[in-house]
Amino acid sequence: MAIPQTFIQELLDRTDVVEVVGRYVTLKKGGANYMGLCPFHGEKSPSFSVSPTKQFFHCFGCGKNGNAIGFLMDHAGMNFVEAVKDLAQNAGMQVPEEDVSPQDRERAAQARQKQTTLTEVLEKAGEAYRKHLKSSPQAIAYFKNRGLSGEIARQFGLGYAPDGWRTLASVFPDYQDPLLVESGMVITQQEGEDDEKRYDRFRDRVMFPIRNIKGECIGFGGRVLGDGTPKYLNSPETPVFSKGRELYGLFEARQAMRDLGYALVTEGYMDVVALSQLGFANAVATLGTACTGDHIQKLFRFTDNVVFAFDGDSAGRRAAKKALDGALTFASDVRSIKFLFLPSEHDPDSYIRTFGKDAFAHAVTEAVPLSRMLIEVAREGCDLLSAEGRAHLASNAKPMWMALPDGALKRQLLGEIAGLCELGTNELQDLWIPLSPNAKRSFDFKKKPRTWTRGTRQIPAGRADHAARVLLSNMEIWQELSGEDHDLLCSLVPPHGPLFVWIDHQHHEHGSLSWAALLEGLRGNECEALATRVMATSFANTLDDSDPTKVQDSGHDKHAKDARQELRSILQKMLLENLDAQMKQAIENSQSDPTALTRYKALYERRKQIGNAPT
Ligand SMILES: [Zn+2]
Repeated sequence: MAIPQTFIQELLDRTDVVEVVGRYVTLKKGGANYMGLCPFHGEKSPSFSVSPTKQFFHCFGCGKNGNAIGFLMDHAGMNFVEAVKDLAQNAGMQVPEEDVSPQDRERAAQARQKQTTLTEVLEKAGEAYRKHLKSSPQAIAYFKNRGLSGEIARQFGLGYAPDGWRTLASVFPDYQDPLLVESGMVITQQEGEDDEKRYDRFRDRVMFPIRNIKGECIGFGGRVLGDGTPKYLNSPETPVFSKGRELYGLFEARQAMRDLGYALVTEGYMDVVALSQLGFANAVATLGTACTGDHIQKLFRFTDNVVFAFDGDSAGRRAAKKALDGALTFASDVRSIKFLFLPSEHDPDSYIRTFGKDAFAHAVTEAVPLSRMLIEVAREGCDLLSAEGRAHLASNAKPMWMALPDGALKRQLLGEIAGLCELGTNELQDLWIPLSPNAKRSFDFKKKPRTWTRGTRQIPAGRADHAARVLLSNMEIWQELSGEDHDLLCSLVPPHGPLFVWIDHQHHEHGSLSWAALLEGLRGNECEALATRVMATSFANTLDDSDPTKVQDSGHDKHAKDARQELRSILQKMLLENLDAQMKQAIENSQSDPTALTRYKALYERRKQIGNAPT
């Protein structure tokens, strides 16, 4: 669903980031801003600051920053649409859903209602399983044997489903309720015309409730206590539970992923609980499926670093390959994705018990990075001593390399693959890119997008940063600049030139936007990194002189006036430098080009005009 940017802007205008953050973090007024303990990294004294004037939060400890939407996405684990809906509800606004018919809306409302009802059924079942655990010595013994404390069992809501066909009948008075079947807790079996058999899905199993990111129970995993089969049994797919999207332990691991700086993806729920007990509370597990792109995208909402742990056997290698395929499109330059292979006789739990915590932490740091994994997978079974074998490697590597987002990692890998194939980097690039017109558009070293071709002007990065900062915080100034100014800024070398081109487009389409609204438009854009970096600095600067008297309403006018002057003086320097360079060129050309002298005179006049203008 595409939400119009005008709506987002209005929504952010009506939202107070202090109130939104304040729902999750205790904030205290300090000067012009509010301070609190950062929810994104562990700290004892507050370095997390929220600015009511900028509608922005920023942590001086870990650098995390953003607007109200970003906060809900990063901290509360919502996706973009969820965050917008949440804020809209608070602001009493209706998110425009133009392409949705009233019938569809009604259907969506019913589906939401059903989901709530289903999670209530599942919560109730989970509660019953927890009670049963207390009176089941063999289930308690099972968890104790795995080294789990009562505290960890409580934290993960572990339980026990007793051995009996209709144990849940004591929890749900109406065992015929269709919701019990829909939630996956009860199985029906048709026996003859009108005879239907109903019984509990989970019997004589230790139970692991599976929670969604809000902490609601959406399903169960159950491990058999005796020798029965299957050893592990999950809830079926239901309106609230989809194996391909959910990760076991994500809700419990959120904070630890931030504290430890990475997420550890394991293969089973027992691994997750055991690892948490052993000090690695940042572990999650897929639910009996390979790791999908959806899983990985979900993880990257909480951390930039993901380590997959696999058994060293051939099944583990296969699972690792699938995880690699799922991860490729997310492997941007700021993220790290690694693969940890344990000795085949070990799972993470037994590894830590045998070799200790430190050995495991060390193994994590030594895990195979995605780049090496890609090469290893590509060269598998290829004889690099023959031309055929090297060509085979190239054809194996191509789809994986194509899936990577553009960036430094992708370019280095091209060189590395070319080296292994005994080809030049350009040769391999020519071989791969012309074949696919789509790839050419998204990835081409030689030809920059058309608007950047002028991007040859270089000025000190600090000055370009400064200009970007002024315009991102006072976008209305853009329309006051001359065409000459626009050209100067847009023709800067990347990353600055493309950012000014982007600002120009935004201004054409939406007029002046606040920084909070611009930030939304930047999400996923190539200019996002530069823009957030320069704005983070701006935010830090305003905190240095946190004189509370400065945040009067007239403060903005004064600020905007200062900003105009700052920008004018930067542009002035740029214009002069530009003219000087052109004049120098004209002199050099005057020997062979008779028009060069006329051009020189015109440039000289312009130079005099600007140089004398008051700054
Ligand atoms: Zn922080």
